[in-house]
Amino acid sequence: MDLIVAGNRDDLAKARGTGTVALVPTMGALHDGHRSLIRAARARADQVVVSIFVNPLQFAPNEDFSRYPRTFDADLEVCRAEGAGVVFAPSAVDMYRPDRQVSVCSGEMGTIVEGASRPGHFDGVLTVVLKLFNLVHPDLAIFGQKDAQQLAVIRRMVADLDLPIEIVGAPTVREPDGLALSSRNRYLSAGERTVALALSRALRAGAAELTPSAIRATARAVLDAAGPDLDLDYLALVDPATFKEVGDSYAGSAVLAVAARVGTTRLIDNVVLSLRP
Ligand code: AMP
Repeated sequence: MDLIVAGNRDDLAKARGTGTVALVPTMGALHDGHRSLIRAARARADQVVVSIFVNPLQFAPNEDFSRYPRTFDADLEVCRAEGAGVVFAPSAVDMYRPDRQVSVCSGEMGTIVEGASRPGHFDGVLTVVLKLFNLVHPDLAIFGQKDAQQLAVIRRMVADLDLPIEIVGAPTVREPDGLALSSRNRYLSAGERTVALALSRALRAGAAELTPSAIRATARAVLDAAGPDLDLDYLALVDPATFKEVGDSYAGSAVLAVAARVGTTRLIDNVVLSLRP
């Protein structure tokens, strides 16, 4: 079946099939990480809807909304090649009423770690994701572990607001040298890309340690060694469900997350660890 491109909510409503539907929300500039999400969606549902929408609500005025890469024609080819059934690519005018007032509040979880660096970001993410859920009516939705805190706040929204949607997390896809794929990687010069490898290197080095303090210290040392071209925003070792920092007595799954600016590009990455008592 050929790909249906729905440019507004009315076209989307007409495109919905009869079986189970999996939604893959994206901001476009699709890469192999997005491809893996579409494949995971195909394996789980009869119809895959990929949304492509650069959501103005989740960008602060000083961030890269206006220069965020937009590669719509290439994105359609990716969706077609991976067997998506529908691309939903609304305009901002179609998504947001000019007099809108109500939005989703991400709570304390949205104000810590990544949320501390990007105030309002997770409120913007949850507002658009809830709207996409209401427009697409998916049975399940797939999100990348690459944006670990986003995945956590979305799981929390689904639980707290009783949304009848299964949330599936998909592993981070990386370049062979470890760099996590990101639409923002295309901003990096060759030299900056080499500096950016310190993020995944730091996470790997930290993950080889056993205690939270050793994990933090080792990862931090690798980031410090990257030199002045890497401007560290945060390094955090957190509980994956709450995103609160874990102490030395913590046991269970933890996320080691990093954010840094390389040149003008802000990059994030994380790994999931298992901590023993
Ligand atoms: P974005 O287009 O950056 O908003 O991302 C759309 C979805 O793709 C989100 O669920 C991301 O977590 C996911 N994603 C982004 N990069 C990767 C990656 N390298 N591996 C797996 N999923 C990713």
